[in-house]
Amino acid sequence: MGGMTTDIKLIDENGRRVDGRTPEEMRPLKIEAGVLKRADGSAYVEWGLNKVLAAVYGPRECHPRHMQNPTRALVQCKYNMAAFSVDDRKRPGPDRRSQEISKITSEALSHVVFTEYFPRASIDVYVEVLQANAGTRCAGLTAASVALADAGVPMRDLVASCAAGKAAGVVMVDLGKEEDNFGEADIPVGYVPRTKEIVLLQMDGDLTHDEYTKGLDMAIKGCEKVYDIQRDALRRRYEARSLDSEIGAPEGVQKEVA
Ligand code: ADP
Repeated sequence: MGGMTTDIKLIDENGRRVDGRTPEEMRPLKIEAGVLKRADGSAYVEWGLNKVLAAVYGPRECHPRHMQNPTRALVQCKYNMAAFSVDDRKRPGPDRRSQEISKITSEALSHVVFTEYFPRASIDVYVEVLQANAGTRCAGLTAASVALADAGVPMRDLVASCAAGKAAGVVMVDLGKEEDNFGEADIPVGYVPRTKEIVLLQMDGDLTHDEYTKGLDMAIKGCEKVYDIQRDALRRRYEARSLDSEIGAPEGVQKEVA
């Protein structure tokens, strides 16, 4: 982000971006809830070329015990990028970047989970990035919040996440890889549509005040679109579950819904 030069035309003469999008257009987003049988809740997200899986365990007793909070649950996220998720093999294991993303994701989710219902508990959220193409923290947070809902964890609302930024002098939503690498700024946002709270806000690069305001507005509009897709995914999951119980399928056996 910021400063790297390229021959790639990030905006063409028609105002279109590298992948043909307009500045206001997001990459295609697909979400599926309940994709893992062994986790308490799960979700799979494909967002452009990003592929992200989230799994939730808990609420369960927090270990080690000295980490327990006697008044509320801890929401603990672990964000991990698979070695094969990027062009060059990523060195496996935690690094500063994944620790930072784990922390901001945990904090964003803690704002919506009714943690006070589960003293001394831990709610563990695993975000596994299988394929990365910029915007994985937003895809991860979006997936994690659907996985929490799928696990039946009580929440004020879902967190929807989307970024905006600036590339080739143009403020745009949902930056792709080239725009992230060679652009001027990126603002990932986590948003709670029901209360209009912002639970994640970061900025990488430089923007004027007007550009920042425009970018934030675009990111929030993006979050609202993400929210609709999250809710559709949960609705489909709920309908598939109800169908299972109607036809008396054994627990854990999920039928395809036409
Ligand atoms: P985000 O994925 O949330 O946009 P960054 O801005 O830190 O987070 O990263 C942008 C993109 O850079 C990632 O989505 C990924 O495609 C790429 N990237 C990040 N870390 C690495 C790495 N260690 N090796 C190769 N590519 C990486």
